[in-house]
Amino acid sequence: MSERLVSVALPVGLDRAFTYSVPAEWASAPEPGTRVLVPFGARGLVGVVRDVVGEPTAGKLRRVEETLDPPGAPSLTPGLLRLCEWVQDYYVAPVGEVYRLALPGLLTGADVRKASLTRAGEAALASSRDFVLTSQGGGPYVPSVAEQRVLAALATAPRQELAVERLTSLRPRINGVLRILGELAARELCTVRWDDGADEAARVETHYRRTDYLRGDAGGEAKIQEIVGRSKQRRALLDMLETAAPGVWLPAGELRGPFPRLRELIGGLLEPGLVVAEERLRALDPFAAGTPESSTPQAPTSDQQRALASLIADMDAGAFAVSLLHGVTGSGKTEVYLQLIAEVRRRGGGAIVLVPEIALTPQLSDRFRARFGDTVAVLHSGLTPRQRLDAWQQIRMGLRPIVIGARSAVFAPVADLKVIVVDEEHDPSFKQEDGVRYNARDVALVRARDERALAVLGSATPALETYEQARAGRYRWLRLDTRPTPRPLPKVELVPLAVHRPDPDTLLTARMKTALTETVAAGEQAILFLNRRGFATTLVCGSCGALHQCPDCSAPSMTYHLQRNRLMCHLCGHIEGPPERCRTCGEGELLHGSAGTERVELAVSKEIPRARVLRLDRDTSRGKGLIETLTRFRNHEADILVGTQMLSKGHDFPGVTLVGILQADHGLGMPDLRAAERTFQLLTQVSGRAGRGERAGRVLMQAYAVSHPAVALAAEHDYAGFAAWELEKRQQLGNPPFGFLALLRISGPDEVAVRRRAEQLGAFVRACVEGVASKQEGRAPLALLGPVPSPIERVNRKIRWQLLIRASARPPLRWLLKQLRPQLGLDGSGDFKTSAVLDVDPQTLL
Ligand code: ADP
Ligand code: ZN
Repeated sequence: MSERLVSVALPVGLDRAFTYSVPAEWASAPEPGTRVLVPFGARGLVGVVRDVVGEPTAGKLRRVEETLDPPGAPSLTPGLLRLCEWVQDYYVAPVGEVYRLALPGLLTGADVRKASLTRAGEAALASSRDFVLTSQGGGPYVPSVAEQRVLAALATAPRQELAVERLTSLRPRINGVLRILGELAARELCTVRWDDGADEAARVETHYRRTDYLRGDAGGEAKIQEIVGRSKQRRALLDMLETAAPGVWLPAGELRGPFPRLRELIGGLLEPGLVVAEERLRALDPFAAGTPESSTPQAPTSDQQRALASLIADMDAGAFAVSLLHGVTGSGKTEVYLQLIAEVRRRGGGAIVLVPEIALTPQLSDRFRARFGDTVAVLHSGLTPRQRLDAWQQIRMGLRPIVIGARSAVFAPVADLKVIVVDEEHDPSFKQEDGVRYNARDVALVRARDERALAVLGSATPALETYEQARAGRYRWLRLDTRPTPRPLPKVELVPLAVHRPDPDTLLTARMKTALTETVAAGEQAILFLNRRGFATTLVCGSCGALHQCPDCSAPSMTYHLQRNRLMCHLCGHIEGPPERCRTCGEGELLHGSAGTERVELAVSKEIPRARVLRLDRDTSRGKGLIETLTRFRNHEADILVGTQMLSKGHDFPGVTLVGILQADHGLGMPDLRAAERTFQLLTQVSGRAGRGERAGRVLMQAYAVSHPAVALAAEHDYAGFAAWELEKRQQLGNPPFGFLALLRISGPDEVAVRRRAEQLGAFVRACVEGVASKQEGRAPLALLGPVPSPIERVNRKIRWQLLIRASARPPLRWLLKQLRPQLGLDGSGDFKTSAVLDVDPQTLL
């Protein structure tokens, strides 16, 4: 029989799969999508079988060691495998990285088996040591020296058990550890069992807390600086622990999100005693805690009825279809999703609901759980690896046919998928901005097409790409034009900042103060919104006017944190004490250019002493803090909530009658493709938070550029007007949705090397572009802009250059990217001084 081979994708960040042979004694080769354990270097790695290849290649191949999925039940279904392949191809992503998106952490990556010594193994080790048994010919078995070392390592380990991963990293190295273990296990000298963390380790978790050591000491900061060293990550980690409420322990699971190298980072803080660790019981999943009261469907309005009828008809036709559910905020879109999914369940099918940043909207998932109870799986970033695996398995087994989650939920192994909903489909958080740069909304459409499911894109302010498809008749355009509650959309008053001068510190105008005071006096609630988008211009030089920039990034990205008296860069995490002098002219004193949330919070508390003020931003909203703040505000334990764009996400606060927007046009000046679209969307969404309860709402929108269409038309709730204005501009430039973009960014610490690489890649792309143009008449299908330095030229001391490729249609762009792929060094062949990353359909060009 000829050798059977499989091609296996491994999570090693390289753009290729690896070929292994299937042991001859196996009845069949593992089918595609199956997880297998394979040797890789001295380690064992878990990979996914991509396909079964017929042709043996030259050279001796290593063998698959074990299949980890039962026969007939591969971890990745054929549909998900196809989806992964599509993502890999379309987004030009390394093969091994894509599968990681689709499988939760515990299912991918390193070998997590444990080897333990058996009695027989102990005896064999003892006897080989004593040289009692000298085997010749048919005599008793004597372990080889390497085998003895493995057995000895097990014998001295606690409980005579060691992770296989540890055995492969013993010094000096033991060659062929995996093969040796296999042989020892076959002789029953040891056992090897798969450890997926199902034991007691699942219930306890390491927690960390900042101690009082050096806290508030004179000169303490210098000592801390010395301990922390140059690592910005470590500084940021310490800061996160520092700002937790006194006595609060932060679980490792929560810290590992922002700090993937947690173990390494925390080590340097534990040793000198800045931080202490303790094994504590794991906190319960905050989203699973308690069951929300069950709710029953509301009688649909006629708009809702029409939308539902159209969606259900499409579903029953069993073909792929996309609908845009275009309804103003509070028009009952969620109720439509709920009733549609009830129909899905009646037909025994499954559904996925994608929402932006689910951690921000516990309320939304509660509405689904209230309607569908335990059949809902909520996937959110706060899950521990074990909880995530549990949820994944329950979905895979069909126990939870309804899945709600942020972008990666698009890969959830839901069987008989009938509907994918993308709520707030315009939201930029559906785009992953590192690793595999995919847009979950677009992946959802591809999955729906492939699995012949219905795709529903919901928004009050659809992305212009989506809107244009609906206008052209390629998507069904379902509209909800009114709110089902008697509340009309809130009235918006524009406050021109050129006329009504704001307090320079806080941006509050007299009109805003009055409105806030009135609202609080009436026993109602208000939201104050800072449109910051992470680019705060917080310090300005009093003599030369220069903005205070991060020393490592070329952007005014420093935000002043009052409480800690420190400046922090939102691009790279750089932290410094308040500077005394301007870095540009070396003389001027620095003034606060404009306000941060913290400053506004303080100012409001001072100006309106009666008001109880809460703040919601990235700093105050981690894990439970977020849910607590939202709950307290909803329960009217505070009168005013100050916050950033996190406030714009679908929150429903019935008590809010006033929404104040401090600087509506902030962000319009960004040299970015979607600056106007984002501003319009944000203003519309935030305004929609007003007047959702019994009483009518109003919005005060302060801005300098009050007549800019993104501001003026948002104030009139005129989406169609804004879209028409913006689409015309896009058409002139050939920008999306009338053209297609790919951004190639080259970065590295060395300016000369970055520039050289950018020019090389630029020359390559130019040759392709011109080659196509010469064969074509009329307008060229491809254009190259650049290479040029990126608008933000430096981030975290890395120089950034970019090339923008613009195409009039998808096929030539995909052709070009295919040519470009081998040039990017994804296979590890590139130079290591620079990195080149492609962003297909970029959301931002900064
Ligand atoms: P959206 O998702 O468009 O923002 P929601 O579905 O959250 O809108 O609906 C807004 C409010 O209107 C909610 O409080 C919801 O309970 C209520 N609502 C939705 N549909 C109906 C209906 N058919 N009858 C009465 N109230 C409804
Ligand atoms: Zn920086």
